[in-house]
Amino acid sequence: MKIRAQIGMVLNLDKCIGCHTCSVTCKNVWTSRDGVEYAWFNNVETKPGIGYPKEWENQEKWKGGWVRKPNGKLEPRQGGRLKILGNIFANPNMPAIDDYYEPFTYDYEHLQNAPEMQTPPTARPVSVLTGKKMDKIEWGPNWEDDLGGEFSKRSKDALFEGIQKEMYSAFENTFMMYLPRLCEHCLNPACVASCPSGSIYKREDDGIVLIDQDKCRGWRMCVSGCPYKKIYYNWTSGKAEKCTFCYPRIEGGQPTVCSETCVGRIRYLGVLLYDADKIDEAAAVEDPKSLYEAQLGVFLDPNAPEVIAEAQKQGIPQSWIDAAQRSPVYKMAMEWKVAFPLHPEYRTLPMVWYIPPLSPIQSAMENGLIGENGIIPDVKDLRIPIQYLANLLTAGKEEPVVKALETMVAMRRYMRKKSVEKVSDAATLKGTHLNPAQV
Ligand code: SF4
Ligand code: SF4
Repeated sequence: MKIRAQIGMVLNLDKCIGCHTCSVTCKNVWTSRDGVEYAWFNNVETKPGIGYPKEWENQEKWKGGWVRKPNGKLEPRQGGRLKILGNIFANPNMPAIDDYYEPFTYDYEHLQNAPEMQTPPTARPVSVLTGKKMDKIEWGPNWEDDLGGEFSKRSKDALFEGIQKEMYSAFENTFMMYLPRLCEHCLNPACVASCPSGSIYKREDDGIVLIDQDKCRGWRMCVSGCPYKKIYYNWTSGKAEKCTFCYPRIEGGQPTVCSETCVGRIRYLGVLLYDADKIDEAAAVEDPKSLYEAQLGVFLDPNAPEVIAEAQKQGIPQSWIDAAQRSPVYKMAMEWKVAFPLHPEYRTLPMVWYIPPLSPIQSAMENGLIGENGIIPDVKDLRIPIQYLANLLTAGKEEPVVKALETMVAMRRYMRKKSVEKVSDAATLKGTHLNPAQV
C-alpha cells in the first residue's frame, strides 16, 4: 500500500446560482494577462449546453480521453502528429479560439461621450485581440442562456408558424442547471501522461497538478489529452497553463480563491488519503458504469488505526492525517455518498466532485410526490432527468444518484423540522437514508 494525500473539492450544485463570481475572481488572480484573455481556469457552464470550449465532452472530436492499445493497456489518446497550421507547428486536434470565444470588452467610452439623444447609447463589443469593434458576437461561454439570440429568433419564427402548442409543451419540460468547472487535479492525470516534455507533474504531498513553465515547450498535447479541456495555451508566452488549485494559498492555509469568494458557499475543500498502488487498476476497470465505485475503492479510511499507522510510517505529516479525518470531502464522497466525480468514464479519477442538484425534486415535493422519508417513488416525476445527471456523474448509473438525492431530501426535511418546528427528534429520520450520527 502506497499512501498519498490528495486535496479535493466538493461542489453542491443545488446551491450554485450561476453568478460567476468564482470565475471572475479566479480570472483577476490568475489569467488577467496577455495571451490568456480567453482562458477561464474556473468557468461556470450552463447545462444542458455544449459548454466551454464548445463540445468539450465530445472525446472523439478533440481526440481526448483514453484509448486501449493492442497490448490491453489504457493510454491517453494523443493529438496525433503536429502539423503546420499557419506558420507554426501545432497539435491539430485541439479547440481553436472560436471554440472558446473571441474575448471582448465594450466600448464604454461611447457610453460616457455619446451626444444627447432620444435613445440611450449602446456599448458595442470590442475585440480584446484586435481592438476592433465587432459586428456581432457569435459564441461565448454560457451562450445558451446569456446570448441565446438565435434561439429566441427561432422561437419567434416557430410561433409565427403556428406551432405554439408543441413549443409550449417543450418549454414546460425544459430544465437548466449550472456546472462550475475547474481542473480536476486527477489521481491519474491524462495531461501528465500526454506531455512529451515531462513538464506537467502531480505534487507528491498534496496531489495538485502543475505545469513547469521552464520545461514546457508548447507542444499542446496536454490540451487534447485532458478530457476536461482544462489546459489553456498562452499565445504570448507559448506555454500551456492551467488551474493551480491556488497552491500558494493552500500552502498558507487559505482556501482557493473560487472557494473563498463563492457567493452560494457551495464549495468544500478537504484532504483524502488514497492508495496510489490501486490507481492503475481502478482506471482500467472494464465497465464504465463501475468506474465511480472503482474510484471510491482507492480512498482509505483516515480513522482506521492501520491506515493511520501506515500513513505515519510512510511520512504523511500528522497535520494532513488530521485534516483527512475531519475532511468534508471524505464525508460527502465516501461516508454519505452524496457527491460524485464528473465523468468518471474519462478514467482520470478526477478530484473535483459534485452533489447533484435537488432542484428537480422541489416541485415534486411541493406536489406531494415525495414522502416524509424523502424516498422518491418514481424518478420520472423529477424535472431534471435522472439519466442526465447520471450521465454527468456516474457514467450513466442511476441508482447512486437517486440515493444521493433521497439522502439530501431527508436531510433538508430534518433540518427544516429542527430549525422551523424546533424538533430535533431522531424519530424524524425513520425510514430515511440518514442515521442520527450523520446529522
Ligand atoms: Fe490534467 Fe485535465 Fe485532469 Fe486537470 S482535469 S489534472 S488538466 S487531465
Ligand atoms: Fe456558483 Fe459559487 Fe461560482 Fe456563484 S461563485 S457561480 S454560486 S460556484
